[in-house]
Amino acid sequence: MADAAGGGRRILVTNDDGIHAPGLKVLETIARRLGGEVWVVAPETNQSGASHSLTLSRPLRIRRISARHYAVDGTPTDCVLLALQKILDGAADLVLSGVNHGSNLGEDVTYSGTVAAAMEATVLGVRAVALSQSCRNGHPVKWGTAERFAPEILERLCAAPWPEGVLVNINFPDRVSASVEGVRVTRQGKRKVGDALVERIDPRGEPYYWIGALREEEHWAEGTDLAAIADGYISVTPVHLDLTHHQSLESFRKILAEDSRQDGS
Ligand code: MN
Repeated sequence: MADAAGGGRRILVTNDDGIHAPGLKVLETIARRLGGEVWVVAPETNQSGASHSLTLSRPLRIRRISARHYAVDGTPTDCVLLALQKILDGAADLVLSGVNHGSNLGEDVTYSGTVAAAMEATVLGVRAVALSQSCRNGHPVKWGTAERFAPEILERLCAAPWPEGVLVNINFPDRVSASVEGVRVTRQGKRKVGDALVERIDPRGEPYYWIGALREEEHWAEGTDLAAIADGYISVTPVHLDLTHHQSLESFRKILAEDSRQDGS
């Protein structure tokens, strides 16, 4: 049964920071502003960095918290799968993932559980948007910025058609809403140089390693998500599930055709 507002639209809200995360509450507020019926299905614990992983080695439990609110003891991908195939009574029209504590820019997209939840929805044929709020360590998160701007951006996106297999990755800058410069449609940038690895010796004399801080480039290319956020803009990136590099198909065919000719002679 749908709420009167929103014409029966059914929205699934999920995240990777877990059912208790403040950003999930923010996203539920944003979803309610879009109207319709809002369902929340999120992981029991923080799954940041889980990427698009599925839990296959053990059973999954669904815990009902209250009406249309559930926790799953698995990954963001598990949550979307169970929500869309089991928990919701009917099809979802939109899946929103976030609002993540921290940005998902550049290569983050490939590690992010927030983006992965949106990917899973896209795989299952439901339009999906990942939302992330940039922040700095040790500073309060400016959730008000995502809350202020997300509803209108989502309304506009939902009113337009999108190509199949495309999800939207939205990042909000680490600024109060009055200081946000605007919205930029961006491409995925590149910043990662490596991770600072911490190497220590354990009490038994064996070395161990701990993945530390991200080492990054210092300049962002124009038109990227990274540049938009650095300049104080909201970044909106259309992300394609088809990871094929189409421009390389021809040259790779040629490379392999030559190889096979040489092998055959
Ligand atoms: Mn997260």
